[in-house]
Parts: sequence; structure tokens; C-alpha cells
Amino acid sequence: MGSGLGWGHIEQARARLSEERGTIFQEAPLSVALCYPSPYAVAMSSLGFQTIYREICRHPGAVAERAFLPDDVSRWPAGSAPLFTYESLRPVAEHSLVAFSIAYELELTGLFEVLRLSGLPLLVHERDARHPLVVAGGPLTFSNPSTLEPFVDVVLLGEAEETIHVLLDAVANAGSDKRATLDALVGQPGIYVTNRGLPWPGVAKASTERLPAFSQIVTPNTELRSMFLIEAERGCSRVCAYCVMRGTTNGGMRPVPIERILDKIPGDATRVGLVGAAVTDHPQIEALLRHIVDSGRSLGISSLRACRITAPIAALLAKGGYRTLTIAADGSSQRLRDEVRRHTTEEHLIRAVENARGAGLTRVKLYEMIGLPSETDADIDELGRLATELSRLLPLSLGIAPFVAKRNTPLDGQPFEKTSILEARLKRLRRAVKGRVEIRSTSTRWAWVEYKLAQGSAEAGLATMEAWRAGGDFAAFKRAFERRED
Ligand code: SF4
Repeated sequence: MGSGLGWGHIEQARARLSEERGTIFQEAPLSVALCYPSPYAVAMSSLGFQTIYREICRHPGAVAERAFLPDDVSRWPAGSAPLFTYESLRPVAEHSLVAFSIAYELELTGLFEVLRLSGLPLLVHERDARHPLVVAGGPLTFSNPSTLEPFVDVVLLGEAEETIHVLLDAVANAGSDKRATLDALVGQPGIYVTNRGLPWPGVAKASTERLPAFSQIVTPNTELRSMFLIEAERGCSRVCAYCVMRGTTNGGMRPVPIERILDKIPGDATRVGLVGAAVTDHPQIEALLRHIVDSGRSLGISSLRACRITAPIAALLAKGGYRTLTIAADGSSQRLRDEVRRHTTEEHLIRAVENARGAGLTRVKLYEMIGLPSETDADIDELGRLATELSRLLPLSLGIAPFVAKRNTPLDGQPFEKTSILEARLKRLRRAVKGRVEIRSTSTRWAWVEYKLAQGSAEAGLATMEAWRAGGDFAAFKRAFERRED
């Protein structure tokens, strides 16, 4: 291995590999550099990333090796140090295919970094026969993948457990002929070949027999610390108007039978994370939680709905190690929640917090959106009053994020609220709950960038590239978007 790779990073990769369980080391003629545009700890908490890793390794003649955005890009050795995949320490660009899993809009700059550190030109038209095909998939593709068009050759839309095999077959059959690979992929369901002026296909839906997704690799080096992740259900049957995972996307919730879930949990897993858009809507959720905690395991759940936090569920959460109840209401007042068809009521929230307190939980985190269409100061005042009321039951922190309209939702095309108004509403809310409730808010400025990418097209992708090249701060984004809009 060339010394130009940067020994610190190699040592870090080796140390992380030595603490993983389930890593797949194999050799195969078709090797895929499976890249994540965020650091290792985030990537290894992604069940989608882990699932595609396993699917590729299962494909006859193929292997996946992982690469990550370095924890600190600025400390990556300059010049001769290409980014490498962990399993073999080979440079990313030497693999047959480079594939990205992208969770959300702002990870586009992570994709640029990974391509740059790999020595690959960013733009499709700057790459030639010497370079591997670059492919993208992941949660972003459910809403607006069109910003990716200038940078990737192929997009796998939606659930990729089956389309990844179609892609690998096409690559294997065409050998190193990139054009022949792309020609073979045109018209395949759920697969989009970029830069040919083709219509975007709908998102793919994997067959139910493929569920559940579950961890391939368990590692202590993530925020979820050695937690075995498994999908309890896929999708959601509810109809919140701002949400990409709402019931009309891929036909609602597909719960996994609990026997199938329990069967997959390894005997030595001490921590189990149940993943899904609406885990507590699983029809057998109580029995499932009981099985897990009664076997002495601790528990994590990716989505708790306030209306499902009954006293028995709260008791099971407490027994599974929960100390903080994390729930979302998403609209600052009942009027707004009704308008966006988020059927969470004050009564649901109060009862959930009472049940949490009764079970011995000690804190509540409540997620809210501000800036929904038609929001006024009166809605914010209602949130202030409710938050104060909830904080009398348990210490409360509010997580506030500005509303960002997404494609493929009924609120697609709605404007982004002026940042000055969002800031004023945040100030108003802080005043209303001062001394009682902690407020954490995501940046209104970066939410605006997210909005431009959520609603934008290939041009927005190119503006992001310009902004990233110009240093990537907010002013650079503002300039780049304004220039492109002229
Ligand atoms: S916000 Fe949650 S409950 Fe509403 S549709 Fe989306 S996943 Fe379902």
C-alpha cells in the first residue's frame, strides 16, 4: 500500500475494522466502492447503507467495500492521497463501480468531497472510459434526486434491494463498456440513466419477502454503540402532507411479522434498534417490545408516535433503558397540525408525557416545525403554552426545524418562510418558555439551502458545486443560487 494514502487514516480504518462484527472480506471480479457522503459513525447507523452492502456481496461475482467521508476533510493529506475503501485499502477510483447512498439534500457536498478525494472528476461529462461508473441511491431519491444529474451516471430510485442486482448484472454483462452498461439500464423500472433527457421513473418497491432489513455490521463506533438494527416495518400508512414517506409512497406501511424479526436478532445482541418510519404503528408493537426487553436486551426505536405511548409501552421503553421520550408534533398549533393532516393532538402529547413520567422516564424531547404555510404568531404562542404545560410534567426540550417543502408531497412547491420571520418566531417562542424549556433549533440559513436543493433541479446541483468550490459557507451558497437564478 502506497505511503501516500496517509497512515493516520489507514490506522484509523484498521482500528475500526478490528472492532466490527460482520464485515465481509471477499474477492470478486466486480468490486463496488460503496461510499457514504458523511463520516463513518453516521454511515454505520444507516440500515439502508448496511443492507445494500450485504446485497452487493451476495450478488454472484460481486463484492462491496465501504468508503466514508473523512471525519475531518481538512486534515486529509493533500495531493497524493486518494480515498480508499476500508476492506482492502484500495483506492475508490480503482473499483469497477462507485456507488453512493445519500440520505438528504445537504449531503451533496459530501459526494463532491468523496469524488474529489478519490481523484475522480465531479461532472459526468468530465469522466471518460478510464473512470468507473458513478451511481447514487438512498432516501434522497424518494423526493428530489434531480440535483444529482450532473454528477452521477445512474440513479436507483427508492428501495434498491432488487434494482441493485439489475445494475450489477448490467455491469457484469457489459464488462468495461460503460455505454453498453448504461444502454442496458435504460427503461428498467426504478432506474434512471442521467443526461439522456429521459423521463424520471417512479420509485422502486422491493418485494415484501425481502423485509426486514437488518444490520450486517455491528460496531461500537457509532452514535448507536453496538446496537443491532432491524426493520420492524417499512413505510407509513399515515398521510402527513409534508412527508415523503406518507402512505401513498409505496403503498403504506408493511409490518414485518414479529417471529421474523425475533428470528433475525443474533443471540449475542445486547442492544436492539427497531427501525422504520412508523415503528410504534406496528400492530404487534407491544408484544415485540416485550419479547426484546424480557430477554434482557436494551432497546432503541427510530420513531415514536405520541398517540401510541400507552402506559404499558412507556413501561417497556423504561425497562429497555429509555430515559428520554422523543416524540414529534410537527406543527406549532392544532390548527396547523390539522391542516397538514398530522393527527397529533394536545391530548395525545399530554398523555404520552404523563405515561412516560409514570414509567420513570426523566426527560422529553419534542420535535416541531415552524414556518408552515399560513403560520402566524398566534400559532407560536399556542406552542409556547403547550410546551410550558408539558414541562410541568417532565423536563422538556424542544427541537425546532423550519419547514422545507419536499417534492412528491402535497406541500411540494410551498415557499420557504423568510429567515427574518423564522428568527423572529424563534425569539418569540424562546421568550414564551424562558427558564422552563430548552430550545434547540436547526439553522434557518441551512434550511434555506436545503429548500433550494429540495425544490431545485440540476441547476441547483451545479450551484451547490460552485458554492462548495467557493468555500461552502452560507454566503457562497447564496451567491451561487442567485447567480444561477439570474
Ligand atoms: S410524518 Fe411520520 S407519521 Fe406522518 S406520514 Fe411521515 S412517517 Fe408517517
